[in-house]
Amino acid sequence: MQKKTLFNFDSSYLSLPETFYSRVKPSLFTKPETFLLNKKLSNELDLTLNNQEELIDGIFSEAARNETDSFAQAYAGHQFGNFTRLGDGRAIVLGEHLTENKQRFDIQLKGSGRTLYSRNGDGKASFKAMLREYLISEAMHHLQISSSRSLAVIKTGDEIYRDERMQESAVLIRVMKSHIRVGTFEFAAAFGSKEDLQTFTNYTINRLYPEIENNENPILSFLYTVMEQQIDLVANWMRVGFIHGVMNTDNTSISGETFDYGPCAFMNTYHPDTVYSSIDSNGRYSFGNQAKIIKWNIARFAEALLPIIHENIEESIKLAQIAIDSFDEKWESNFYGKMLNKLGFETNTPKLYVLVDELLDLMRTLELDYTNTFWDLTLDSISTDNPMNNPEFMHWYTKWKETIEKTGGMKQAQLLMRKNNPFLVPRNHLVEQALYETENGNNELFEKLLDVLSRPYEFQEGLEDFRKPSSSDFEERYQTFCGT
Ligand code: AMP
Ligand code: MG
Repeated sequence: MQKKTLFNFDSSYLSLPETFYSRVKPSLFTKPETFLLNKKLSNELDLTLNNQEELIDGIFSEAARNETDSFAQAYAGHQFGNFTRLGDGRAIVLGEHLTENKQRFDIQLKGSGRTLYSRNGDGKASFKAMLREYLISEAMHHLQISSSRSLAVIKTGDEIYRDERMQESAVLIRVMKSHIRVGTFEFAAAFGSKEDLQTFTNYTINRLYPEIENNENPILSFLYTVMEQQIDLVANWMRVGFIHGVMNTDNTSISGETFDYGPCAFMNTYHPDTVYSSIDSNGRYSFGNQAKIIKWNIARFAEALLPIIHENIEESIKLAQIAIDSFDEKWESNFYGKMLNKLGFETNTPKLYVLVDELLDLMRTLELDYTNTFWDLTLDSISTDNPMNNPEFMHWYTKWKETIEKTGGMKQAQLLMRKNNPFLVPRNHLVEQALYETENGNNELFEKLLDVLSRPYEFQEGLEDFRKPSSSDFEERYQTFCGT
């Protein structure tokens, strides 16, 4: 009898033309050991994991390595506006796992060694960076924002050179509906034949959006669908103060999942210019630029699809332009809809948008904390020592309350606000402290953060310290990094 393998792999990606991937096995590490395992996710995926060794065995044992048809994906992308040929330089898709009800998920290793696309990189990742990705991606999931998930962090027993020192290296097991990205389409358009592009597009539609397959022009529907998914996603980021930090087109998923948690961070004091990424000196990917950037990325996606939207290229350009021109209105409606929910309004009417604009203006000039301001509004409780307790703010506050009373009342508003305004988000200084301590052998704070961030909309007793914004001193110095 054949031994039951850990994953139920069915890798449809390998049916694509070979230019789209290259087969590669994960590196052999000195002493791979599971450090963190997401048991809940493992159950959701119907994995039968009795112990942590089974995970290591199911991936790194000789038998698993022989049996698994793992591969790295080829892609391209615009990085900070410049087109580059890329590919999974430090990631490997082990396979597409099918759950019992036939949901398909990429099971990807990040930091598992060099691939054909590694260029000068070592293909590895630091323990600290993989812990960070695990923590933030799971926090995003619990904030009810579509995201890649983290199944496990595996320490490798090896060291790598990062941040001017030797550090422990680790592998993250990342789970996504698919890692297909805008950059994969740019790759197909730039380096494949028109037939490759058509095959790849049909494949992606069938895999991610089968409901549009029989539309009159499925490729055009696909463009609109991805645009709408991304608008909803990025507006959701802004709802909770999330800054992705590296919105290159290769980090923009077609499935509408947040992924590639590199220099990302949550904003404390509200300011649209907020940037944490060490390399984003012009603020291209600042908090307030994220709508503009996703529109730009979707325009790159539309360009890649031009050869197949319509057989006549002029017609294709016209149709793609109409699609891109519809972005602003869709964005406005989605973004303000979410912001109005944060203020307790269910109906999305442009008449109320001014309340959002005025509040954001006040938050910026009064330097208010993004998360805590909305939470205090949710409770409708502003203590005397709260910086919101200021004549200008109170003027807005009175107007807001009067509008609430006219549109269903505070009780009803609060129900909605509680679903849209988190009590907790990962605070930068706590994340850093937890990572530092974990690296130094004490993972108490890390575990605590994981736990409290799994219920971010719930009021939790005794967590005052977890709600405090990072100090302005810390924030001024705080930088986040790519490729760590
Ligand atoms: P990212 O900024 O994480 O989206 O990465 C951009 C590109 O650099 C991707 O193709 C990555 O696979 C690649 N990359 C990042 N770090 C490494 C590394 N240590 N070794 C090889 N490739 C890497
Ligand atoms: Mg990336």
